[in-house]
Amino acid sequence: MPLSIDANVPLAPRTTLELGGRARWLAHATSEAEVVEALDWAAGKAVPVAVLAGGSNTIIPDDGFPGLVLVPALRGLSFEDDRAGAVRVTVGAGEPWDALVQETVARDLAGLECLSGIPGSAGATPIQNVGAYGQEVSETVREVRVLRVRDRATETRTPTQCGFAYRDSAFKRDPGKVIVLSVTFALRRGGPPALRYGELIHALGEPPGSRGPSLAEVRAAVLALRRRKSMVFDPADPNHRSAGSFFTNPAVDTQTADAVAAQAVAEGLVASADEVPRYPTEDGRVKLAAGWLIERAGLAKGTRRGPVGLSTQHALALVHHGGGRTEDLLAFADEVRDAVRARFGVSLEREPRLLEALPNG
Ligand SMILES: Cc1cc2nc3c(=O)[nH]c(=O)nc-3n(C[C@H](O)[C@H](O)[C@H](O)COP(=O)(O)OP(=O)(O)OC[C@H]3O[C@@H](n4cnc5c(N)ncnc54)[C@H](O)[C@@H]3O)c2cc1C
Repeated sequence: MPLSIDANVPLAPRTTLELGGRARWLAHATSEAEVVEALDWAAGKAVPVAVLAGGSNTIIPDDGFPGLVLVPALRGLSFEDDRAGAVRVTVGAGEPWDALVQETVARDLAGLECLSGIPGSAGATPIQNVGAYGQEVSETVREVRVLRVRDRATETRTPTQCGFAYRDSAFKRDPGKVIVLSVTFALRRGGPPALRYGELIHALGEPPGSRGPSLAEVRAAVLALRRRKSMVFDPADPNHRSAGSFFTNPAVDTQTADAVAAQAVAEGLVASADEVPRYPTEDGRVKLAAGWLIERAGLAKGTRRGPVGLSTQHALALVHHGGGRTEDLLAFADEVRDAVRARFGVSLEREPRLLEALPNG
C-alpha cells in the first residue's frame, strides 16, 4: 500500500501541550520503506520535513509547519535471551513507551521500572536520554537502529555512539540527522529494581519481611508519585496540558552552587545552606533543582499568565490551560528564565524542542 499523506493537519491535538498550528502535510511511516518514501516525497517537492512522535516533548509554532510532518509509527516488540544472561528487548520506534515499561515489569525484567508513566514513544527515549527517579534509558540501551536522512542508509548505533548525557544525546546535540527505527534494551530477568531516589525509597516504605520491593511495586509507587505531581498524562487533570519538566536542572560549578546557597540563607529563603537542593554530578559540577530556583525566584506553583502558567503541582511544569497560543507559552517561559537569572544568576535551558525541519537531501 502506498504511503498515505494527509494535508492541512492540526498538530495541537497531537501534542500534550495542545498548542500550535497545522502541518501542511502529515504522514505515518509504519515501515523503514515508508520512512524513505516520505523523505523522498518531501525532497521531490522541495518541502521541509520534521519528525513528530508522541508530541510530549515538542512545541509546535503558532504558524504550524510548512512541509511534511513525519510520524515514525513503526511497531513491533521482541524478547530474546542473550549469552550474558540479559534479555534483549527490541521495540519499534512507534510503540507507546509506558506500555513497553508495563510489559517488561509484567515479565519481571528489571531496568525500566522507574521510567513508568512517561508519555510518548519508545523511539524518542534515546533522543533526550529519558530519565526519572534515578534511572535513565542510557543504562539499558544496547543498540539504536537508525535511518540516516542524508543517504537513507540504515545503521546500528552503539551506546558510545549515542553519546548519552543528562537529558541529552548525540541525537539531540546534532538534531535531524537520523530517524530512530527501533531501540534494543538489555534487561535483567528477576533483577532488583533501581532504588536510588530518596522520595521513591520513602514512598515504598518497609516491605513486609526482609524482601525488597518487586518491580511491580516500584512501578505502582512511581505512578502514584507522578500522578500527585501531574506528571502522568491524564486529560482529567487540570494541569495535563504540559510537556513535563519545561527546563532541565542546571549543572553549575561549585562556586556558583555555593553562592546560590549562601544567597538563599542570607535572604532567609532557607535556614541553612543544606536545605538548598544540590546534587554532585560525575564531572565535578553541581546540579541545582530548577523547580526550587523558579519558586524561590518568586514564581509560585499555580502562577498564571492568561492561558498559560505553572502547574499547581510542580513548579517545573509550564502548563497551557486552553485557548492559548504558543507565543503565550514562550513569553511566559522567558519570564521564568529571566526571573531565575535575575535572582540567582543561573540560566535555565528549555527541555522540550520546537518542531524543526531536518536537513533532507
Ligand atoms: C506529563 C509529562 C511527563 C514527562 N516526564 C518525563 C520524565 O520523567 N523524564 C523525561 O525524560 N521526560 C519526560 N517527559 C518528556 C517526554 O515524555 C519524553 O521526552 C518522551 O520521550 C518524548 O516522546 P515523544 O514520542 O512524545 O517525542 P516527541 O515530543 O514527539 O519528540 C521529541 C523529540 O524527539 C524527536 N523524535 C521523536 N521520535 C523520533 C524518532 N523516531 N527519530 C528521530 N527523532 C525523533 C522529535 O523530532 C523531537 O525533537 C514528560 C512529558 C510529559 C508531558
